[in-house]
Amino acid sequence: MKAAVFEGVGRLEVREVGTPEAGPGEVLVKVGANTLCGTDLRILRGEKTAGIKPPAIIGHEVAGHIVEVGDGVRGFEAGAQVTITPMIPCGRCFYCRRDMENVCENVRAVGYEIPGGLGEYMKVPAEAIEAGCLFVAEEELSPERLALVEPLSCCVYGQVRSPVEAGDTVLVIGAGPIGLFHVQLALLAGAETVIVSQRSEHRRRLASQFGAHVVVDPSGGELPEVVAEHTQGRGVDATFLCIGVPQLVNEALRLTRKGGRVNLFAGFAGAGLSEIEANLIHYNELRVTGQTGARREDFAAALDLVVSGRIETERMITARFPLEEAPKAMEAASGREGIKVAVIPGYRDKT
Ligand SMILES: [Zn+2]
Ligand SMILES: [Zn+2]
Repeated sequence: MKAAVFEGVGRLEVREVGTPEAGPGEVLVKVGANTLCGTDLRILRGEKTAGIKPPAIIGHEVAGHIVEVGDGVRGFEAGAQVTITPMIPCGRCFYCRRDMENVCENVRAVGYEIPGGLGEYMKVPAEAIEAGCLFVAEEELSPERLALVEPLSCCVYGQVRSPVEAGDTVLVIGAGPIGLFHVQLALLAGAETVIVSQRSEHRRRLASQFGAHVVVDPSGGELPEVVAEHTQGRGVDATFLCIGVPQLVNEALRLTRKGGRVNLFAGFAGAGLSEIEANLIHYNELRVTGQTGARREDFAAALDLVVSGRIETERMITARFPLEEAPKAMEAASGREGIKVAVIPGYRDKT
């Protein structure tokens, strides 16, 4: 089969590799689509190295159809449309036993140490099936939409960590794919006003289309005023920081009301160092949390939201590339204008 193989920093090569087969306990999936995310870009740039040993087939936001079911696998049939939560928890460690499987001490991940979705086929290992990481979509939908369950699941979990309550005013800083999911989830949770801070005009427009009530370009310096205006000067109830710039942490803290919630959702570049105005947390009694990945229950919730259409995914996909053009797809994904880029094996033949 063809696959996009990460060969080392800056090198993604599309070439022939052996087609995997489903051994005992395993399932073979014909990949329908793999959407790209910032983590893939960071792997390609050499910024993320943990668990990655080139040559490696990366890609962890993936959906497709089962074509082969190995001996002993129960509950899955050929033809079913599936998606996978890439982080395989061990189920036994300190964190797994405390409902924090997303930070499992023995995690193994599809698209990192286990070959991922940037190939024509992907083998789902027995450990992933046993752990309950493979999910069947009850309704057929486009694979690129189904692949978005993964990033959405992280946002679902983010809002478990920092709940949005009915009537809240919510600030989302950054309207990339993650920010746009947070906008939609906040609205579903009953937020009364969602304010989005975003420099790119195109993304501000998208945020409005996805239901944000107020969109602001922060470069003009009016964001604090706008927040004050909509909150009687108090600050928002909850803030989601979806841009990994440490200097924005203070802004997130400052714009949140006393007793409010601040979620540092995006991972920060480099060491993530920044000077924090600690008294904002102290005197304003802020509940600050971070977040990484998602648990299987969040993935199940996200799947339900996508299949039911309560979370809109169609307009999130702004570019599609065949597998042969995976390197070009990566380039497109690093641009600021689009939202989600999908790699679709056989895309040209389908259109
Ligand atoms: Zn991702
Ligand atoms: Zn564990």
